[in-house]
Amino acid sequence: MNQGIPTLYKFSKNVGDIMKFARHFFIYIFILNCAACVTLNETGQSVFMLTSEEQEKELGEKGYQEVLSKEKISKDQKTIAILERVGHRIAKVAGKPDYQWEFTLIESDQLNAWCMPGGKVAVYTGILPYMQTEAGMAVVLGHEVAHATLRHSGQRISREMGIGTALQIFSGGSSGDQNALLGLLGAGARFGTMPFDRKHETQADLIGLKYMAKAGYDPKESVAFWQRFGKATQGSAPPEFLSTHPGASTRIKDLQQNMSQALSLYNQASAQYGTGTSL
Ligand SMILES: [Zn+2]
Repeated sequence: MNQGIPTLYKFSKNVGDIMKFARHFFIYIFILNCAACVTLNETGQSVFMLTSEEQEKELGEKGYQEVLSKEKISKDQKTIAILERVGHRIAKVAGKPDYQWEFTLIESDQLNAWCMPGGKVAVYTGILPYMQTEAGMAVVLGHEVAHATLRHSGQRISREMGIGTALQIFSGGSSGDQNALLGLLGAGARFGTMPFDRKHETQADLIGLKYMAKAGYDPKESVAFWQRFGKATQGSAPPEFLSTHPGASTRIKDLQQNMSQALSLYNQASAQYGTGTSL
């Protein structure tokens, strides 16, 4: 009579195992098919993504405040006004009206600029002499804004987190596990300012070129900017902004190949500012 109990136990254990397997299997499929694949508007490509745009924005805001609290903010009102003017023109054509765009000028010799996920942008005064004009500034801002709209930081975090970590977090499903995910993102606040890989750099160049043209700045200035920047930094240790970027000649060639399309976008723009005012 007692034999029924172990059988029942064995049966329920098997059902439990099957349910557990099914749960993990469906989570795995969910991650692969639903949550993980996001189609980017700008390029139409499907990318592996474990972070939501909301989480990336949170991460960006945190990273932005972290950096600004440590840096000296410029008080040069004339250049700040130009930065905000060019920045908002680029942001307007970048197709992300839900981003809280902000542009800050940091007083520093560094040849650097970045855009955190969610639209928080910083330009370092060290790079201004290479920009020369509003159009030169639009080259750099277009490039940095493209990194954010293409969600390059999120893609990078997703790759680093990997499916294993995601499974561990999502299979629990408790609020504690969600906090673990946010903890990982928080730890990744530095990603917003770190160099991207070469593929993402080229993408940011080409989408950035479109943005500057649509914003009304002569896209040919992109080639002029990279020629100046490449020449000035030749022979010395590569600045952070350039360190993992493609070489100047490669990026100029890529930009030139896309110039006729950029010029037609420029001609269709609601206003043409040419090079804009000098910095
Ligand atoms: Zn870049």
